[in-house]
Amino acid sequence: MIPEPTLLDDIERLENTARRLEPDAAERETLFKQVIDYAHRHLDDLAEAPAYVGRDDNGRALLDSPISEEGTHLEEALALLRDNVDTAGINAASGRFLGYIPGGGLVYSALGDLLAALSNRYASIFYAGPGAVRMENMLTRWMASIAGYPEDSAGFLASGGSIANLSAIVTARDAFDVAGAAVEKAVVYQTEHTHHCVDKALRVAGLGRCIQRMVRVDDHYRMVPEALDQAIATDAKTGLRPWLVVASAGTTNTGSVDPMRALGEIARGHGLWYHVEGAYGAFFVLCPEGRAILDGMNTSDSLVLDPHKTLFLPYGTGALLVKDRQKLYAAHRGKADYMQDAFDAVEEVSSAFLSPELTKHFRGLRMWLPLKVLGVAPFRAALSEKIQLARYFYEQIQRLDGFEVGPYPDLSVVTYRYVPPRGNADAFNERLVKSIQQDGRIFISSTRFNNTFVLRMAVSCFRTHRDDIDLALEILRDKAKEILDFGF
Ligand SMILES: *Cc1c(COP(=O)(O)O)cnc(C)c1O
Repeated sequence: MIPEPTLLDDIERLENTARRLEPDAAERETLFKQVIDYAHRHLDDLAEAPAYVGRDDNGRALLDSPISEEGTHLEEALALLRDNVDTAGINAASGRFLGYIPGGGLVYSALGDLLAALSNRYASIFYAGPGAVRMENMLTRWMASIAGYPEDSAGFLASGGSIANLSAIVTARDAFDVAGAAVEKAVVYQTEHTHHCVDKALRVAGLGRCIQRMVRVDDHYRMVPEALDQAIATDAKTGLRPWLVVASAGTTNTGSVDPMRALGEIARGHGLWYHVEGAYGAFFVLCPEGRAILDGMNTSDSLVLDPHKTLFLPYGTGALLVKDRQKLYAAHRGKADYMQDAFDAVEEVSSAFLSPELTKHFRGLRMWLPLKVLGVAPFRAALSEKIQLARYFYEQIQRLDGFEVGPYPDLSVVTYRYVPPRGNADAFNERLVKSIQQDGRIFISSTRFNNTFVLRMAVSCFRTHRDDIDLALEILRDKAKEILDFGF
């Protein structure tokens, strides 16, 4: 007779297996060492690693090793990571990744992430994680101070710029009670260069049917204040409800910065919500070159910044600031209405009542640690350097035969293209981008506006320095020549 297993036996058996979730000190040492070795190899190789790898298999072998009941060794898992993830596609940590809006991923942030994941501090409710909430609010206040926002503004660290913009839209929506029949009459003023996440945010916020006015831009792709003023006046006269002005503190498309002070005066004059979308450009306020062109950014009602872009953090950190803290709270408060009285009473307001998230990654640590250890100086210098490098590229590319440039860069994005002696310029530039991507040593991306195919050079990774720009110039010259020589 096999004895019936007792409840205690059962629990013991389960415990033995469950305990594998917690490595002991010796195992931990091995695990950490393997991961640290991997990290060192990755960082040591970064300078020589391609900025882009297009692979036919796209790392499909990952699927040949499915999640299993018994697991595998960490070493084997890291090999899968290296072979199928870390060596395919865009190398977003590379200083020679010059497409879209680069960021980088600071080592200090990675260390912060490790500690945040281990301690699993609760950064959403003050009493549950007073230090973590205080740290994140301190960072929000720091961003408010550099952006010229008042000390009593509210804000939070989001997962990225898109979510931060969504919260800004939702806050502006509720502040102006854009609901029901009012939606179809509500008008948003933006330009054709405004980031598409604003468009997406409107739809997600249930405002897909509001009217989006594409306000005219000048030859620097900046919104024309008089055109905005006129559009608002016309709409108001015809019974529509001008609601929201979205100015860009640096567009992804061209890098241009809208004249924020002038736009703010118009928005305020007409009684509209004024939002500045600074996911790419707002942090340039830290350097003198950026500060001048970002004048008037602080006249907005809300402002998005993206630390995982121009503060060089790893992906997963955006930020929203709202001047009127009650408006942000009103749009994001939980079901617990009784917390409203506590809003000003507690030492620190909890992000759970200011943002869409409740439980979240303690993302403040990845921002606090590098700022604390390094100070602001190297960030300031890196941002100045990026602007100077973009200006350098702008000058040098014009010296290469056949290249023409767009307007002088406002920040660190340069638009340019090659004009071949014969044939279709769009097709030529498309081939140029493809051949540079195939080469892989640098990565650039392209865009299209005014019915023209345009190349972009975006300098915003802290690892991008003069050598990288020189290499980019060399590759652009050589690849253009190659395409011509092979008979375009
Ligand atoms: C990247 C970007 C966004 C979107 O932010 P995510 O962090 O990618 O969600 C919005 N606006 C601009 C100008 C951007 O560059």
